[in-house]
Amino acid sequence: MKINENYLRLEESYLFASIAHKLAAWKEANPRREVIRLGIGDVTLPLVPAVTEAMHKAVDEMGRQETFHGYGPEQGYSFLREAVCGYYAARGTIIGEDEIFVSDGAKSDLGNILDVLSLQNTVLIPDPVYPVYVDTNVMAGRDIRYLSANRENGFLPLPDQAPRADIIYLCSPNNPTGAAYSREALRRWVAYAQEHGALILYDAAYEAFVCEEALARSIYEIDGARECAIEFCSLSKTAGFTGTRCGYTVVPKSLSFGGHGLHALWLRRQTTKFNGVPYIVQRGAQAVFSPEGQRQTRANLDYYRGNAALLAGALQARGVWYTGGKNSPYIWMKCPDGMSSWEFFDYLLERAGIVGTPGSGFGPGGEGYFRLTAFGDRGRTEKAAGLLKEIL
Ligand SMILES: *Cc1c(COP(=O)(O)O)cnc(C)c1O
Repeated sequence: MKINENYLRLEESYLFASIAHKLAAWKEANPRREVIRLGIGDVTLPLVPAVTEAMHKAVDEMGRQETFHGYGPEQGYSFLREAVCGYYAARGTIIGEDEIFVSDGAKSDLGNILDVLSLQNTVLIPDPVYPVYVDTNVMAGRDIRYLSANRENGFLPLPDQAPRADIIYLCSPNNPTGAAYSREALRRWVAYAQEHGALILYDAAYEAFVCEEALARSIYEIDGARECAIEFCSLSKTAGFTGTRCGYTVVPKSLSFGGHGLHALWLRRQTTKFNGVPYIVQRGAQAVFSPEGQRQTRANLDYYRGNAALLAGALQARGVWYTGGKNSPYIWMKCPDGMSSWEFFDYLLERAGIVGTPGSGFGPGGEGYFRLTAFGDRGRTEKAAGLLKEIL
């Protein structure tokens, strides 16, 4: 018996452990000072009433003989897939119900999709990046090439700067940088993928934060994307489902490589290795897409947007360069005075009691940058904005 040695090649991430360690030491030295956490990548507002009501009802159904549900369809219940189709259609994007695969979140599918793609493919990953894309490919043993996201390209690299690769990861609005691609920029990526026979894995976990008209909510807003892209969506950040677990992945039937449709392979993979998302959770997810659920979740998104605007306002007032904040819950700022990411972490904690996330934790390209999140509560975010104006 031999282990998968690729796991030994994974780089240990000390990011969140180091943050916790530094914070604990600081608290011990400053027992009376308040900590403001702007580092969390998790939502804080509870599920909206439309969702919890639907889930309560589903729980009761599960407890009655006539309405009990056992195994459901691996792809997800039709009621939820129809609701997702309706959500796309309302924005003018037509997706077939059977092209939607309900999942327990985007992270699982982003990793699992690699099952149906050859190990011989090279992978293109932006730097800095959400670490899941890198680690899942290291685990599989694929060759990774990096694409520099930087201040010059607004942290939105384009294909003319890219090394050749077969699989391309794009995340927009981006975690960690908050930057979001315009339709025009995505058109260039789709054209590039078509020209080179590459596949785009498009992470749209933050699509609901997009408010500017020129920015895409889905890669399928671009002609030709149905022939070269898979889209990963999640209710985690858009509807507070980080602990409830539900997402959906769109695999168009028109996606074909070497004469083989990816849809059929993915369906086969899912029906073999996945037994679906709980009925109760899918009823909750369906309620997100109801008119009431949409109204209520929009109010939560507006709350986070308000937080982001406060933080962005403080940076603007001090002339600090940043991306994000408008179409994303993340703000990605340049550390002042040439500080490194960790130097600024220490400075911010010491001077203001604010905890953020060092950009270098998302890849070498993040060095010298810092991520702030809008997922905190309003009062503390207001206080943080005031402190930032004082110390920057
Ligand atoms: C949070 C997040 C996800 C969503 O993950 P889930 O498994 O659906 O909770 C996906 N991609 C990115 C970039 C994220 O930040």
